[in-house]
Amino acid sequence: MKPVFSIIAPIFNEKGCFDELYHRVSEVMNSTGEEWEFVMVDDGSTDGSTDLIRELAKKDKRVRPVIFARNFGHQIAVTAGLDYCRGDAAVIIDADLQDPPEVILELIAKWREGYQVVYALRTEREGETWFKKFSASFFYKVIYRITDVKIPMNTGDFRLLDRRVVDIMNSMRERHRFLRGMSAWVGFKTIGVPYKRAARFAGTT
Ligand code: UDP
Ligand code: MG
Repeated sequence: MKPVFSIIAPIFNEKGCFDELYHRVSEVMNSTGEEWEFVMVDDGSTDGSTDLIRELAKKDKRVRPVIFARNFGHQIAVTAGLDYCRGDAAVIIDADLQDPPEVILELIAKWREGYQVVYALRTEREGETWFKKFSASFFYKVIYRITDVKIPMNTGDFRLLDRRVVDIMNSMRERHRFLRGMSAWVGFKTIGVPYKRAARFAGTT
């Protein structure tokens, strides 16, 4: 059956986060009472995450694996997930649990109100170095100077996209993809939901 919700996680060497990710996402999504699928995109992991995904997919048919032959990078991994997902709404989430799965319910609530792009807005960032925060803030300042597209600051790719938005983004041929910019550029009814970005559950950035 076609799922209502697709959860998409790019996974690159995340074996330490894997069980917790699956457990927390399952619990949250089961509580919606809707059909859902979990598109796990393995971006050329070398730590055994690939086998974990394959084994889980055998046990739980809601888990749909996309396995890359090598590392292509986060944006390409998420792009593949968007291509492959079938839900009426898709949620992009990091695999390291910096994006708390429980926030998905708030994203879904806004979607039910009629919003087609619901991005998660970071109000606090735990466990990130000053360099990461500084470089992120510098990046957005530069982006704001050079483009008219209003890309919300303090966001990542953690967001919900309605099927219409997913289909349009999938039809865009950009080779150097910046998904949070693309999802701002396409338009549609958009809103942010504040959340506290957690520290990485395990592993390294
Ligand atoms: N990731 C990926 N390919 C890469 C690097 C990262 O798919 O080449 C995934 C990673 O497993 C995680 C997400 O992208 O789910 C964000 O990566 P990370 O936590 O390293 O970035 P940060 O949170 O520090 O920006
Ligand atoms: Mg992270």
